[in-house]
Amino acid sequence: MDIKILGAHNTESKKTRMSCILIDGKLVLDAGGLTSSLSLKEQTRLKAICLTHAHYDHVRDIPALGMNLYLSKARINICATKAVYGSLTKYLINDDLYPDWFKRAVFNFITLDNNKPQLVSDYTVKAMPVNHSVPSVGLQIKDSEGKTIFYTGDTGAGLADIWPYVMPQLLIIEVTAPNRYEESIGNGAKHLTPRLLKEELISFRKIKGYLPKILLTHMNFPLEDEIAAEIEDVAVSLKCSISLAHEGMRILL
Ligand SMILES: [Zn+2]
Ligand SMILES: [Zn+2]
Repeated sequence: MDIKILGAHNTESKKTRMSCILIDGKLVLDAGGLTSSLSLKEQTRLKAICLTHAHYDHVRDIPALGMNLYLSKARINICATKAVYGSLTKYLINDDLYPDWFKRAVFNFITLDNNKPQLVSDYTVKAMPVNHSVPSVGLQIKDSEGKTIFYTGDTGAGLADIWPYVMPQLLIIEVTAPNRYEESIGNGAKHLTPRLLKEELISFRKIKGYLPKILLTHMNFPLEDEIAAEIEDVAVSLKCSISLAHEGMRILL
């Protein structure tokens, strides 16, 4: 499995793009920094986009991708829960803000039901509900060789409920802000801080008996150095390796 991080942050700037992961050049997880990261040709090769939730930093490039594919006479599967589909068609893909690419058959919608494995292109995708401020899922992606990742999308504390049902070799998990934001951004907006991440990893190891490779995403860029310093302490204390993702990073699994 060839994993490329297109967007590793929760904000966009010259140096950062919003949440977006590309797998094997054809499957996309979240569509934050998508269209500005790929050539038109690369965009027409995409087979499917799986969305974790409908927050703007995870869906914003979907209308732009629709226009590019429409002009190239290409199509793509958009895979998400019904709740996310509801938000997409209400706010973003509705013939009001921009053309409705579902109606024009550029987009084909595939429903992801919670906890039910779904075949998408050559991958088995399992959506698992996570604790965020709007309906959100984490996504387990398994390829035909059995290579497996779990991407949490945005989540607050409480992943212990889903650890029994996933078995990743790579865990891509969000950490949005340092520990001093635990009340506001952690418990308030339902994201993870390094301290909250540590609790989740301890529960993972207790339930599963191992820790996979860990890659952090969705960092708030101005706070990234502070996050990195706190993460170093977590890695030392758990005796595991934790990396921070960055735009353009590639991982072969
Ligand atoms: Zn979110
Ligand atoms: Zn987000």
